Amino acid sequence: MKSLHKMSMLIYLFIFFILIQNMGNITAPSNPVELIEIKSDKQSPLAYTASAPITEPPIDMDENIRTRLKNFRNEAAKLCQLYPKSFFSSLPTYNKKIALTFDDGPDSHTTVKVLDILEYYNIPATFFVIGQNIDKHREVIYRAIKNGHEIANHSWSHIRPTSVSAAELISEVEKTQAKLQEMGITTKVFRPPYGLITPQQMEALKGLGYKAIIWSVDSMDWYTTNPQEIVQCVLSNVHPGAIILMHCAGGHDNRSGTIEALPLIISALKKEGYEFVTIQEMINF
Ligand SMILES: [Zn+2]
Repeated sequence: MKSLHKMSMLIYLFIFFILIQNMGNITAPSNPVELIEIKSDKQSPLAYTASAPITEPPIDMDENIRTRLKNFRNEAAKLCQLYPKSFFSSLPTYNKKIALTFDDGPDSHTTVKVLDILEYYNIPATFFVIGQNIDKHREVIYRAIKNGHEIANHSWSHIRPTSVSAAELISEVEKTQAKLQEMGITTKVFRPPYGLITPQQMEALKGLGYKAIIWSVDSMDWYTTNPQEIVQCVLSNVHPGAIILMHCAGGHDNRSGTIEALPLIISALKKEGYEFVTIQEMINF
């Protein structure tokens, strides 16, 4: 009887010991969702900044283009550093938010197809338009505004800013801005054609209240018409706060590669949990 009592005491002690052991596990905070988020944030060194480095496109390309793009990335990084509040390559966010941007519109063919696709997926984007094309395609711009897209300035005639004076650039920008204002658009966001400006031009733009916005991910749709390559350029380089460069006009084949790639890009990014925003939504002006 005594040994039975001893035995049960030992069992009680054992159970007590196990309970104490597990106490730590029971009371420790366990939130797998939160932990996963923290982990993925830490793994994204490109996030949370308005000047993430422009990523290198992961496709085969001519050596001279590769060199040109490398020089471009270096020059753009310098501008981001010099003008952290005026020259942006990405959006300052901790979250999986990205901005799709479409340059060189409006037209009545490709821009319309891009709008159709964005409408189907019910997501907003930003269109950097060429001033001299606005009057011919006003209805396209009105449709874009109605659908919640942002319309921004891409100069009057797509000049290369680094080849003209600051005064010439400002005249190009202001002429387009006046046209946009006629249509009720007040956003003061400017994307320099080809992505670069001189410090003198940036100072002049700053003085007039403009922000210069380039991109951190180049879809390369100006270089390749292969939709798979365009998809690859975006998906392999995407990051929280990415600004993605695409085109909605020009090109010798009406940007057929862009039109084919766009639905694949959007659905893949949605699956990855990305939210689509306009530039204006993410940067306080
Ligand atoms: Zn352009």
